[in-house]
Amino acid sequence: MTRTIGIIGAGQLGLMIAQAAAELGARTICLDPSADAPAFKVCDEHIVAPFDDIAALEELCGRSDVVTYEFENVPGDILRSLTERYNIKQGIGSLIDSQDRLREKSRAVESGLRCARFADIADRETLKTKAAEFGYSCILKSRRLGYDGHGQAVIRSIDDLADAERLLSVPCILEEFVRFDYEASVICVGDEKNGYIHFPVGRNVHSGGILDLCIVPAPEMSDDLRRRMVEKSEEFMRRNRYRGILAIEYFVAGDDFFFNEMAPRPHNSGHYTIEGCTTDQYRELCRYLLDMPLEEPQLKATTVMKNILGQDLAAAETIAAESRDDVYVHLYGKSESLPKRKMGHITFVGLDGRGYDEVWRDKFVKQN
Ligand code: AMP
Repeated sequence: MTRTIGIIGAGQLGLMIAQAAAELGARTICLDPSADAPAFKVCDEHIVAPFDDIAALEELCGRSDVVTYEFENVPGDILRSLTERYNIKQGIGSLIDSQDRLREKSRAVESGLRCARFADIADRETLKTKAAEFGYSCILKSRRLGYDGHGQAVIRSIDDLADAERLLSVPCILEEFVRFDYEASVICVGDEKNGYIHFPVGRNVHSGGILDLCIVPAPEMSDDLRRRMVEKSEEFMRRNRYRGILAIEYFVAGDDFFFNEMAPRPHNSGHYTIEGCTTDQYRELCRYLLDMPLEEPQLKATTVMKNILGQDLAAAETIAAESRDDVYVHLYGKSESLPKRKMGHITFVGLDGRGYDEVWRDKFVKQN
């Protein structure tokens, strides 16, 4: 019998979950506040409603066999009450923890992961004391609802404190600044009963606080470091009984790695898995939701994923028109293109650094 996956959120992640579900023979129903959300074009049914509309969420759950989320800021209390009555197979543990930077970092430390030193900051006095204790530089972040560097202030000296204080209208966390070599992420799928699979670890390159490139495998990472990072990530999931999919972002400094943040949903740094691996993050999430056995992914070849922001769209369209076999252009069909908005991504499979430069950078430089 055909099963229906309910997806809270219908952005690009919802779009790719819905596409993977269709390939596995499942139906999808998505809920999103925006009437022209990308996933609405491919899902079977949709509901236009805000993420805190209890009646609409009830309707989504009632029309689904299993429910997931592509958006981690669904109010936790609403989801908790739905979990008691519907099959929200991932549960809400990882979702609730990921909604608060203080809670997720505390969980990480309790589970044996290293984090930069951090402190809960509710007022100016504590900020001043902790900034002095951590030594400059440090970084103040809102505990909730931050993304792509929003709601953050880097404090390099005592002179930066006054400006950073503007964030204190909401609860914040102060973190010691990590002098990392690069960023990397691990994406795992599974549960404590049936075990976990993980995707190959890539190096994430950010630009202006937004993920720009993901290079897989991470070029400078030793096998030993990769193995420890994956083991610790799985252990973190197991100890906290997290189920389904979890993406964890790390800072890598020499032979050490520091937990930065996590997301209980498919992750931007895992887009490359669609063409770069034998199975991808969306497909494995759907297999998990549909009670199918998981497949361990294998990397097919060195892969580079480039995010396409509004300002990159023209270059991406030129590359798409070339229809190269080893270059896969995904455009999400968002109605409005804005400079920092994620409009699509391109995956380059099996191209070495120079091949990627030829296809992307030359066009990008010419057109911008
Ligand atoms: P986040 O929203 O926590 O991922 O932070 C956005 C970006 O800011 C990260 O990708 C890092 O490049 C940088 N960043 C955040 N926290 C730290 C930290 N504790 N030390 C150094 N850089 C950081």
